[in-house]
Amino acid sequence: MIIVMKPKASEEEISAVSDKIKSLGYTPHAIVGVERQVFGAVGDGRGKSHLQAIESMPGVEGVFPILKPYKLASREVKDTNTVVMVDGVPVGGEQIALMVGPCSVEGREQICTTARLVKEAGANILRGGAFKPRTSPYSFQGLAEEGLKLLAEAKKETGLPIVTEVMNPREVELVAEYADIMQVGARNVQNFSLLKELGKIKKPILLKRGMMTTINEFLMSAEYILSEGNSEVILCERGIRTFETATRNTLDLSCIPVLKKETHLPIIVDPSHATGHWDLVEPMARASIAAGADGLMIEVHPDPVNAFSDGPQSLKPEKFARLVKGLRPFIKLMGRTL
Ligand code: PEP
Ligand code: MN
Repeated sequence: MIIVMKPKASEEEISAVSDKIKSLGYTPHAIVGVERQVFGAVGDGRGKSHLQAIESMPGVEGVFPILKPYKLASREVKDTNTVVMVDGVPVGGEQIALMVGPCSVEGREQICTTARLVKEAGANILRGGAFKPRTSPYSFQGLAEEGLKLLAEAKKETGLPIVTEVMNPREVELVAEYADIMQVGARNVQNFSLLKELGKIKKPILLKRGMMTTINEFLMSAEYILSEGNSEVILCERGIRTFETATRNTLDLSCIPVLKKETHLPIIVDPSHATGHWDLVEPMARASIAAGADGLMIEVHPDPVNAFSDGPQSLKPEKFARLVKGLRPFIKLMGRTL
């Protein structure tokens, strides 16, 4: 249910409503607007009929049902776009977020050189995996904590905030020590224990869409994080599985306007994992911006041929610099900045 307070509702009236929501077994999620305050009351539905009675409390304008299965992620509850602040870098506002770096952190020289070059080219957030979800247990699994430490060094050198993946609820605390954004990979989009754990921390989460996840399921996964109290969720489309084999995945461009309609959360696109080929990254990056994406995640490696993971889809730093140059007119056309 959505409880809309009157514009002139007093502090006492607001807190009385909040207490009432709690007493009915619901969690009140306060959304403070410019003019008025709104509560999203979410729970398992048992006290629903009683919630309607809140309508008669002082200061309340109305009580309305939320029709979508996702509540806090929905535009029904919050119409204005959410801007997630990542160590000073806004994601979801006017500025386009460019989260760029290698698939895996491989060593000091590799991550620091990449960080320096992508920053020069226009990246504003550094990506790099330390815990890698690989299809084969015999593939490189990432440098784990050593990788996180190297990311911290690259951040110190360049000032770029870090996005890195957390695969396991047991590693949330460790990864949170180093990461500015905690990435949930495509394979973990419905790992509900992990999502609940991430809902309890105060750190932005980058939630990647699974390769077999519908938009509805994707938003329900975001809801798991939001419902635990963490409102800083960034969505990432990274391609879904279809019958097509020419590309690694199929980039679902139409999910951008659909998500923009359904949710206030920022949405970025990862054309690297979506296509699997470095030469397809640039056209899909342009298309994503043109479709309304709030940012991009792009894999860049100084020596793609010898990369420990995802070399074929990784751009060399100079190619990334050219991509950004060609992207700028599209960013401008969309009324955005970089
Ligand atoms: C990654 O970002 O390196 C990654 C493993 O992505 P995804 O979870 O989208 O496959
Ligand atoms: Mn990768």
